[in-house]
Amino acid sequence: MPRSIEAPKTDGQLPPPVKSSPTFSPSDVTVLFVLGGPGAGKGTQCANLVKKYGFTHLSAGDLLRAEQERPGSQFGDLIRDYIKNGLIVPMEVTIQLLENAMTEALQKSGSSKGRFLIDGFPRKLDQAHKFEESVCTAKMVLFFDCPEKVMEERLLERGKTSGRADDNAESIRKRFRTFIETSMPVVDYYEKQGKVVKVDATPSPDDVFIKTQKHLTERLGKEF
Ligand code: UDP
Ligand code: MG
Repeated sequence: MPRSIEAPKTDGQLPPPVKSSPTFSPSDVTVLFVLGGPGAGKGTQCANLVKKYGFTHLSAGDLLRAEQERPGSQFGDLIRDYIKNGLIVPMEVTIQLLENAMTEALQKSGSSKGRFLIDGFPRKLDQAHKFEESVCTAKMVLFFDCPEKVMEERLLERGKTSGRADDNAESIRKRFRTFIETSMPVVDYYEKQGKVVKVDATPSPDDVFIKTQKHLTERLGKEF
């Protein structure tokens, strides 16, 4: 049974560890974190990887937006506010949504084994630690590297049709700031562990996908 979401702590204190060991073992469950600035193309490349390699794609942003719209959710207003301001929603919410989605995907597949692309998460170091401690260790990080100017153009273009409350110039500025100040340290942390596969996300989606496959094959072997 998926667990219900705990109320986030608001006193700035880290909550006590919920569990002493992760829910999923890395021998059953493969987790690839997919990181990159807003508009780098994480969602697009994840969709390509799902199609060709059969990963389960979980976008933290999509899960938060779904929770925001879920009738009866006690977190709707909080999530809306954080997203509009490009801030990071308290991790208890996001981590529980991710764990629930992983549990549901495994239940649906009828297997204890699964391969997940976790897109747009972790965006802050404490989220990374907490997720690995309580849900599952990550095998590696796929990092889509893209200049801000290119990401800005893409987001403004997407904003014409996305209906997303954060695809506007002001929210985009705030999201870039959060990315540089808070999320890049996560990439650096995994880089030091030798877990990062970096792909230049400036070219066209097709070209980025070709490079992505090449880098993943080099790292994980042909059968990844
Ligand atoms: N978000 C969050 N925690 C996460 C992932 C996303 O708080 O772990 C929020 C954050 O406010 C972020 C927004 O959701 O700016 C949109 O995230 P998404 O990944 O959908 O946007 P992208 O960066 O892919 O354009
Ligand atoms: Mg996305």
